[in-house]
Amino acid sequence: MINLILFGPPGSGKGTQAAKLVERYNLLHISTGDLFRYELSHNTPLGILARSYMDKGELVPDEVTIGMLRNKVEAHPEVDGYIFDGFPRTTPQAEALDALLAERGQSISRLIMLDVPEEEVVNRLLARGKDSGRADDINAEIIRNRFTVYQKETAQVFDFYAAQGKSAKIHGVGSIEDIFAAVCAEIDQVNA
Ligand code: AMP
Repeated sequence: MINLILFGPPGSGKGTQAAKLVERYNLLHISTGDLFRYELSHNTPLGILARSYMDKGELVPDEVTIGMLRNKVEAHPEVDGYIFDGFPRTTPQAEALDALLAERGQSISRLIMLDVPEEEVVNRLLARGKDSGRADDINAEIIRNRFTVYQKETAQVFDFYAAQGKSAKIHGVGSIEDIFAAVCAEIDQVNA
């Protein structure tokens, strides 16, 4: 069982790496951002609530996000583990995740951070926004706010798992393949 947190600022390549990891290991990729966008596209009450935060680059409240994550994990007991992408983003979310996994006799194996500087993130997201149609990728001010929220509210999750000896940092600028090799090397250490 491998339970992985792919960590890093918005635009650091978590989604790209997660898609490749799913092919190599039998893991379920859970992106809370994707789950919110799904709800939003179906105009559900959860989607409508989430949108008011997402459009500003703010975090959706913890209780809403944790409840949605729990439903997703509980719906897929058959997998060999999970890749959490974009979750946890606050210390209470990390505590809730640890508790949820502990109920199932599991724990986080590793948190892998893709380290990418702010200017690179802004450029990548503006480029992505041209195709993705994501409202939060079009405006440089919203992108910078997402980066600020990451530093203020989310970066501490790295320290939370570092205290458990589980955090690793990878340089997230370079070729997708090189970064993938570095991520796999981290995972294979856990498996060894
Ligand atoms: P992402 O696709 O991970 O960049 O997430 C897009 C947006 O969804 C974020 O800017 C937040 O508004 C919301 N979101 C995604 N994951 C979380 C989370 N774990 N906690 C709170 N808000 C989240």
